[in-house]
Amino acid sequence: MEDRDHKKIGPELELFYIDPVVGKGLPMYLPKGTIIKRELEKFVIEEETKRGYLHVETPDLAKLELYEKSGHYPHYKDSMYAPIEIDDERFMLRPMTCPHHFQLFLSRPHSYREAPMRIAELSQLYRYEQSGELMGLIRTRSFCLADAHIICTSEEQAMEEITGALDLIEYANSVFGLKLGVDYRYRLSLGDRSNTEKYYKNDAAWEKGEELLREVMQKRGCEFEEAKDEAAFYGPKIDVQMKNVNGKEDTAFTVQYDFCMPDRFDLTYIGEDGKAKRAFVVHRSSIGSLGRTMAFLIEKYAGAFPTWLSPVQAKVIPIADTHQPFAKEVLQSLKDAGIRAEMDESSETLGKKIREAKTHKVPYLLVIGDQEVASSTATLEGREGKIGALSVADIVEKLTTEIKNRA
Ligand SMILES: [Zn+2]
Repeated sequence: MEDRDHKKIGPELELFYIDPVVGKGLPMYLPKGTIIKRELEKFVIEEETKRGYLHVETPDLAKLELYEKSGHYPHYKDSMYAPIEIDDERFMLRPMTCPHHFQLFLSRPHSYREAPMRIAELSQLYRYEQSGELMGLIRTRSFCLADAHIICTSEEQAMEEITGALDLIEYANSVFGLKLGVDYRYRLSLGDRSNTEKYYKNDAAWEKGEELLREVMQKRGCEFEEAKDEAAFYGPKIDVQMKNVNGKEDTAFTVQYDFCMPDRFDLTYIGEDGKAKRAFVVHRSSIGSLGRTMAFLIEKYAGAFPTWLSPVQAKVIPIADTHQPFAKEVLQSLKDAGIRAEMDESSETLGKKIREAKTHKVPYLLVIGDQEVASSTATLEGREGKIGALSVADIVEKLTTEIKNRA
């Protein structure tokens, strides 16, 4: 198990590093880890944009007043950092994006024609976690969440959006190679009517909300477990649960139905009759916390990522120094095509160069010797073994197609 543990192989593969001088639970992404993070960001922005999400950016910091308005303060106080005083005003590092997005929605009136309005952001969030709970990239004190809030005109529209959000999650998981029932499972997280301190009080709304989510799950026809007392304080949710290598389960992605915030923020839209009507809200994360998702992927692939996510996608290996000039041309062709490629310029033996590239889990090796120089080819080797001598144009074509399709 240990050779898959992201806490161990993450630093070995130079993906991330946690330094006590910077702080516990505050990971730093090294250049290779940042490449993976950027690929995840590009993927989610591209996919969400296709599905009608509008990406925005809001600040990591806001006045305490905003979290009092949302009710996160005091409900969520224990997970928030202490207020920061600036010019006699108190500010909080944000633990959630919701209040920011609701306030942004209020910047102007909205027509029913704009709904469902899908406001998305890659948000940096800050939550207090006890030292003992901190774990690599899975449980941290700061992380980037692929977050969104969908403003709807009706319960029906909200349920359609919840279904759409689950479709997006399942699509993303399929791209990551994660399978329902094997790598992840669904949990319907319910409230607790008797706990009015933890949950917003409105029994009828809870009953209805929980029943609606249950129906959404039953319609999907996939298995799910129900868990009491796991909801958000503002409503029930559908969680996508994943286990790490050590068997500990965490919520990777979540879709939540909210019947509380629209009242608190007075979120309305102008209906067909010209009158203001109360909106319905869905909170959802598509690929969750990018760090947490990266941790699951490191453990799933033991560092041998699919080509599109690999920090180095191809390694050019000249057999001897005399093959270096042509190898450099090949390297340049790969780079010009946007492929992340490196060349081994050491004077080690071929066997050692190949072992070195394989240790770093590089998906493709291009070996260049006398024959390859004479025929202007490279001998391509993938993770499954030798593919053969191909022209550089063919190799570029093969790799770019695989990367573009996130195969
Ligand atoms: Zn939210």
